[in-house]
Amino acid sequence: MDLQNNKEAVFQAVEEAAERANRSKDSVKIIAVTKYVDCQTAQELVRTGVTHIGENRVDQFLEKYEALKDENLTWHLIGSLQRRKVKDVIHLVDYFHALDSVKLAQEIDKRAQRVIKCFLQVNISQEESKHGFRLEELDAVLPQLESLKNICIVGLMTMAPFEASHEELNQIFDTARQLQKELKKKQLKNMPFSELSMGMSRDYPQAIANGSTYVRIGTAFFK
Ligand SMILES: *Cc1c(COP(=O)(O)O)cnc(C)c1O
Repeated sequence: MDLQNNKEAVFQAVEEAAERANRSKDSVKIIAVTKYVDCQTAQELVRTGVTHIGENRVDQFLEKYEALKDENLTWHLIGSLQRRKVKDVIHLVDYFHALDSVKLAQEIDKRAQRVIKCFLQVNISQEESKHGFRLEELDAVLPQLESLKNICIVGLMTMAPFEASHEELNQIFDTARQLQKELKKKQLKNMPFSELSMGMSRDYPQAIANGSTYVRIGTAFFK
């Protein structure tokens, strides 16, 4: 595992994907998902110049945070969060990517001492196994979130099915982008909807082609 080399390859590929889409490379933030590795390996990756760290589980998030808290990092909790664990972690989170219920939002609002930047997770592919709001739910959900003063909905997060074809990926990511644009236009309170969290190791170039502003990449750093 050559971390320096992997880091350079990922950053280069992101830059190229952005260029092909006529976007600046700074418009795409790269989150290194460190869930596959121990704290020491995560630390070594940080030394290569990664500044955004993502974990999908609370216990691993806390472990990595404890080990790396003196680095100047932005912390992303990217996986589903149980309501009873909100109080253990939310004060350390810069971005939460998996907001998937009103009850969870209310718990975050209650426990947070400051505004937490959240992505609404949407289930565009309609897979049973995936978390996230269904598109037809959103009209009812948004008014309930607008009043929560410690929640800022910065954008949408979505995940494509593992086996999705090139066409399906484009369709899912494009649907997310269209929806993000529509929601942004509404200018709802505490909901700028300016960001899109989509793209993992296997599909990030396509996500960037479709407007992603945060890619969440694990495997490609640690292969
Ligand atoms: C693990 C994980 C990723 C990264 O996946 P890779 O395919 O390893 O790049 C991205 N997002 C979420 C929510 C994850 O759990």
